[in-house]
Amino acid sequence: MASSLRQPRAEIREIFYTLFSKFTCQKKACYNFYIYLQGTTISLPVTICRGAKSSAEKEERLKIKIFNREICVCALLATNSICAKSSAEKEEEMKSAVFYGRHDLRIEEHEMPAVGTKDVLIQVKACGVCGTDVHIYEGDKGAAEVTPPAILGHEFSGVVKAVGSEVTSCQIGDRVCVDPNCYCGACDPCRNGAAHYCEHMIGYGTTVDGGFAEFCAVNERQVYKLGENTSFEQGAMTEPVACCLHGIDMCGIQPGSQVVVIGGGMIGLLMLQLAKLEGAAKVALLEPVPAKREVAAGLGADVCMDPIGRDVKAELKKAGFTWVNTVIECVGRPATIQQAIDIAGNKAVVMMFGLTRPDETIAVKPFEIFQKELSLKASYINPYTQKRALDLIDSGRLDVESMICEVCGLEKLEEVLSDPAVRAKGKYVISPEK
Ligand SMILES: [Zn+2]
Ligand SMILES: [Zn+2]
Repeated sequence: MASSLRQPRAEIREIFYTLFSKFTCQKKACYNFYIYLQGTTISLPVTICRGAKSSAEKEERLKIKIFNREICVCALLATNSICAKSSAEKEEEMKSAVFYGRHDLRIEEHEMPAVGTKDVLIQVKACGVCGTDVHIYEGDKGAAEVTPPAILGHEFSGVVKAVGSEVTSCQIGDRVCVDPNCYCGACDPCRNGAAHYCEHMIGYGTTVDGGFAEFCAVNERQVYKLGENTSFEQGAMTEPVACCLHGIDMCGIQPGSQVVVIGGGMIGLLMLQLAKLEGAAKVALLEPVPAKREVAAGLGADVCMDPIGRDVKAELKKAGFTWVNTVIECVGRPATIQQAIDIAGNKAVVMMFGLTRPDETIAVKPFEIFQKELSLKASYINPYTQKRALDLIDSGRLDVESMICEVCGLEKLEEVLSDPAVRAKGKYVISPEK
C-alpha cells in the first residue's frame, strides 16, 4: 500500500485536488486527511507550503508528507481552485501579529482565515501571552513546531462570527474559548488514552495560525462555550489552567499535604490555588518579585518568601513546613529545579512544571533521590482537562484575574515578548480590538 503512494498517481492527485478545492487560504497549514483508497483508509498528515509562488501561472508547490516520505507535487493550480472564498471575501483582511522568525514580529493586515465546513470563525476578544510564545519568539528549538510566517497565540477566547456548513455544536454569537491542541484520534497514542502524544497533532497558535489576530478559524471539536460567569479574559486563561490541572493531577496532593510552589508567575499562582483546592494544609510560594508575592498572599499562600540569599529549607522548616510532600517548580531554570529537589521531603513528588530550554541539564544526586524516595515528574500540555478548567473558572473558585497585569492591543505584543522586565509585572492578555 505504501509503495503505491510513493508517486502521486493521477487518481490520487485528483483526490488531493478535490480536497484542496475545499481548502483554506492560509499561507501554510498542516492538515490531517483521511483518504479512502483501494479499500483502505489512509491517514495523511499533509503540510502545505505555499510560500514559493511563481507569479504568472500561480503555481502552487504542495509538499505532501505521506508515511514520512516527502513528496513534492508541483502542480499548476489556479489559486481560485484551492481557495474556498469568493472574490468579494478575499478583499477582507484582518489585523494580526505575524511571526516571521526570531525577534521578528510584524503587525500587518492578513487575509481572513477561511472557514472549513467543520470550522468555527472566532472573533478573538482575548489572547494570553504565554512562556511558550516567548520561547518561540526567541527562536528556541523544540519549544513548539512553528514554521514562519505564523500567527502565534494559543490561549484565546472570543465570539463566534461564522460557522461551517457541518458545524453542529456552535452558533453565531456564542462566547467561546479554544483548546488549541487538536488530536487526530486515529494514531496509537490517541487510541491508548495519551492523545497529547498524537503523532499528527495540530496546534492553533503553533503549527497553524492562532489568536494574536482579530479572527481565527478553529475546528468545532476544539471549541468550548464559556460559562455565564466567565469573562473573555478569564476564558482566555482556560488553556493555562487546563495545563495546570494536568500537572496537579499528577502531584498526588492529599488533604493536609504541605506544598511548596517555586515561582509566582501566572502558572505558580494557579498552582498555589489548585494545591489549596486539593486540600493542602499549607502552601508556601517562593518568588523574588515583591508584587507577585503580594498577589500570592492575597490568593491564600500561607508563606510567601523571597528565596534570594536565604536558607530556604531552614526557613520553611521554621515556618512549619516540617515535611514537604510536594514541590511544584514553575520557573523552568536548572537552579530552581535543583532547589525543588533539595526542599522536597521524604517520599515527596517534585513536579517540574516550568519549561527549561531544550538543551539545558541539571545535576542530580541519585543518592538524594534514593534516600528520600523522591518522584520526579513532569507534565506536558493539557489532555482532557479543558472542560474541567472551564467549569472551575466559571465556579469562581479559581482566581485567574489577579495575575493579569494588563490587557493591551496587538501593538504591545512584541514589547512583552522581547522584554523580561515587562513580563516580570505579570500576565499579559492581548485584545486585538484595542
Ligand atoms: Zn500557553
Ligand atoms: Zn493521533
